[in-house]
Amino acid sequence: MMKHPMQPLETDEHGVLRFKQNAIVRYLLDNGGIDLNRIACLQFSQDDRVQFAQLIGYSLRGFHELNYVPDSVALAASEAARKHGFESACGCRDDGCEIHCGVDEQDTAG
Ligand SMILES: [Zn+2]
Repeated sequence: MMKHPMQPLETDEHGVLRFKQNAIVRYLLDNGGIDLNRIACLQFSQDDRVQFAQLIGYSLRGFHELNYVPDSVALAASEAARKHGFESACGCRDDGCEIHCGVDEQDTAG
């Protein structure tokens, strides 16, 4: 099963490191009559949820705290950010956060 690619990370106007949002996806979320709570209740694959969080421009730190993001992906995102010049990029799972670590990758198709 092919996984969605990871969005690039960039800093916003406040210096917060975020995934590069897709403005159309963001617009749909803000104006499409559906919110994150509703989306959370619907049946979507882990992979789709993870990519969606990236497409709406989640911060790297916020991404680490999402309960559906696998540890492997959270750590890979920090790693990718550091590789692209954000040397101090990290989220709580880089430090072994006891609250958010422990999410496995699910192999269910979307
Ligand atoms: Zn944490």
